[in-house]
Amino acid sequence: MAKKIKSYHLPKLNKQTENIDSALRLLGLEGIRLFFDTISKQTLNKKDITPYDFLENLLEKELAWREDNRLIRWAQAARFPWKKTLQDFDFSAQPSIDQTQVYDLSSCRYIDNSQNIVFFGVPGVGKTHLAISLGLEAINQGYEARFLTLGQLIDMIEKSYAGEGTHRLFSSLLRPDLLILDEMDLFETKGSISDFLFKLCQQRYEKKSTIFTSNRSFDSWDKVFGNETRAGSIVDRIMHNGVIINIKGGSYRTRNRNSIQAIL
Ligand code: ADP
Ligand code: MG
Repeated sequence: MAKKIKSYHLPKLNKQTENIDSALRLLGLEGIRLFFDTISKQTLNKKDITPYDFLENLLEKELAWREDNRLIRWAQAARFPWKKTLQDFDFSAQPSIDQTQVYDLSSCRYIDNSQNIVFFGVPGVGKTHLAISLGLEAINQGYEARFLTLGQLIDMIEKSYAGEGTHRLFSSLLRPDLLILDEMDLFETKGSISDFLFKLCQQRYEKKSTIFTSNRSFDSWDKVFGNETRAGSIVDRIMHNGVIINIKGGSYRTRNRNSIQAIL
């Protein structure tokens, strides 16, 4: 019969554990503070566990706790409208997409190389889904990402005029390693708004990456950047070292409706 191991009981809250608790809080070692009891119970009664193993276990918990929190905070700060991953994407529904190319992008080398990506395709083909997936992947790998539709960005620029916030807004959008600008073709801009957009894309070029999504071709971007010359210079830059993914299929949302209609 296996010998019953005498279990180690952690002391109830007393002066010493209170001191430890407040020191861990003060030092910001929240992972150790939360998992100390569990790790102690798991390890202190076991043979062959050295103090180094115990400390290593605690430090691993602290690092894992910090990383989990970082992922949550950065994903919240990115303001994705919903969470979608590459694993959720059904590539068989969109044969025009090169799955290997998209998975290759998830390595984030394009961010290291400050390249841009453009997803083209009619509504519902998964452009936003893929852009969010790549954004989440970037965050997992330690890059800062920010998601905005063009409509949201225009609103933010307009609101920033009221205060002194335009400069701050501009800097905050220059900073992320990856900026996702969704639905690039849905708005027409003029004056200071198109100036802002043009300067933003111009200044991010070759320094930071941007993912654009658009329902229509580059031609529709003349209206986004205010005129043909400006749009042309942004598009030229994207074409120069960017990745352009044309999704040629139909909407994922209505795929079953189409096949039902074909049967009927
Ligand atoms: P788009 O941005 O091209 O208009 P979305 O990315 O918004 O399309 O896709 C519409 C919806 O369909 C989303 O909920 C998305 O997750 C889903 N979707 C689109 N394509 C696929 C796909 N190939 N596999 C799984 N879900 C998809
Ligand atoms: Mg979309």
